[in-house]
Amino acid sequence: MRLRCGSNCLVRLISIVNAGTRNAAIASLQAGPGSASGKIAKPLAGYVYREGTDYRCSDCWQFITDKQRCLSHGPGDVIKPNGYCIYWTYGTPVRDGQPKSSVSKEESAYAEKPNGTKCRRCVNSQFPTCKRVDGTIQSNACCNLQTPR
Ligand code: SF4
Ligand code: SF4
Repeated sequence: MRLRCGSNCLVRLISIVNAGTRNAAIASLQAGPGSASGKIAKPLAGYVYREGTDYRCSDCWQFITDKQRCLSHGPGDVIKPNGYCIYWTYGTPVRDGQPKSSVSKEESAYAEKPNGTKCRRCVNSQFPTCKRVDGTIQSNACCNLQTPR
């Protein structure tokens, strides 16, 4: 499975192995320090930065355009082009394919909020830094802790 970028490999791999373990890991990260600053390190937060995308299903290779479904979700899960989840992986969507029921919408944190993702739309942004994630951040970046304004 191709990961959306090197910086969020750990969280993504945790997700693949076991969704329950992933949720526990994220809860642990949210509760405790992940770096000397007391903030969570970017790789553990799943921080990703790529220009030219809004981190939506329409830019994810797992999106099945003709069915409005996702390769990772279930056959009954309607997935919209403006949706997003923590499994987002940049790439060209497929026109046809079979949903694999690997995750539920709850496990993937699927959402379609109009203000969507990105640091500039997140309550945690305090440019050029973040209240939760260590280091400097980009306004067009995103992470698994994104909380829409
Ligand atoms: S639901 Fe997640 S994995 Fe599926 S197409 Fe959308 S962003 Fe990609
Ligand atoms: S501002 Fe939000 S989306 Fe950006 S790194 Fe911080 S928590 Fe993640």
